[in-house]
Amino acid sequence: MNDSLTIESNVSLLPYNTFGIDVKASRLAIVGTDDGNNPIDRYSKPIEKLRSAGCFESRYFVLGGGSNVVFTRDYAGTVVMMSRGKVAVDRVDGDTVYVSADAGMTLDDVVSWCVAKDLYGLENLSAIPGTVGASVVQNVGAYGAEAKDYVDSVCVYDIQDNGFKCLTPEECEFGYRSSMFKRFPGRYLVLNVIYRLSRSFVPNLGYKALENMPHSSAKELRDAITDLRWSKLPRPAEHGSAGSFFKNPIVDEATCRRLLEKYPNMPHYPGNKLSAGWLIDQCGWKGKRIGRVGVWPNQALVLYNAGGCTGQEVREVAETIRTDVASTFGVELECEAIFVD
Ligand SMILES: Cc1cc2nc3c(=O)[nH]c(=O)nc-3n(C[C@H](O)[C@H](O)[C@H](O)COP(=O)(O)OP(=O)(O)OC[C@H]3O[C@@H](n4cnc5c(N)ncnc54)[C@H](O)[C@@H]3O)c2cc1C
Repeated sequence: MNDSLTIESNVSLLPYNTFGIDVKASRLAIVGTDDGNNPIDRYSKPIEKLRSAGCFESRYFVLGGGSNVVFTRDYAGTVVMMSRGKVAVDRVDGDTVYVSADAGMTLDDVVSWCVAKDLYGLENLSAIPGTVGASVVQNVGAYGAEAKDYVDSVCVYDIQDNGFKCLTPEECEFGYRSSMFKRFPGRYLVLNVIYRLSRSFVPNLGYKALENMPHSSAKELRDAITDLRWSKLPRPAEHGSAGSFFKNPIVDEATCRRLLEKYPNMPHYPGNKLSAGWLIDQCGWKGKRIGRVGVWPNQALVLYNAGGCTGQEVREVAETIRTDVASTFGVELECEAIFVD
């Protein structure tokens, strides 16, 4: 049993963010879990302690694996993190298996666990860094799949109302790398996600890059997707990054047509979605470096830490790229990564 809450002061956040930004938090609170089959039983006491310790009375930020955040300075407040918790089968209904995963678990560990137990659906999300909690906040996606496709319910603690809630996918208002949680930053602490998976393996190979992927088993597909990802993206242990730094922009019909007339080879997707990576690449950014921040040579969408950069430096480079894309194409890029001041 671990009903503990640990609180430390003046803590370096370097181990807790994949960009490798070296800042400190005034306080770091790590929420443990208690025994119990349902998440509310497991989290009630630690959260009560968190509240009693005054963590929600002044500034706080909920941090998962720190793989989509950029701290721009020391954080003057409490950074709240969830400890790992557990993954288990919640219930079975014929071919459908509901898997319960606590927010602090690494998403990829959950995918691995499911594949090993012959529970299918999450394979295409293999090797996305970060936690289960953030997977629903961000509605993570890759290779033609998004977290929302497999979410059955999300258990949260509503910090504002001081109560627990179980939200349906509709209530989560999932969108492209977004959810209702992003409309109310800091209001909800995600505690647990129930994923709806299948006992039957039906490989999802609709995404172009997966057309020729080996897929005799979910494990084989997962391994191939993992290899493909790391052939294009910086590994956090080697080069700090937040993955794709910008969202793919969605433009209006007229803008899409105007750009296609001028750039007939421009990649574009249903709903007038453009490729942010392509736009940035066309502006000549791929492989460039400004001081200690670089644009990844294999993927222009990724900014990386070329050695001891600060979050402020990352913000300046991101802004320079945004301005360049806006003046070249008339398209505004929105950051997917989250700056924390
Ligand atoms: C190399 C690399 C590759 C990546 N590839 C992809 C990809 O293919 N697809 C994709 O979608 N993303 C990708 N990302 C981005 C990142 O993996 C996702 O955004 C992920 O969901 C972030 O998880 P995290 O736990 O690190 O969250 P953090 O970065 O710590 O936090 C992200 C947001 O979630 C909130 N949050 C975290 N946990 C909780 C919680 N328990 N309750 C409430 N709010 C919470 C935070 O407050 C913050 O707003 C990549 C990142 C890297 C570094």
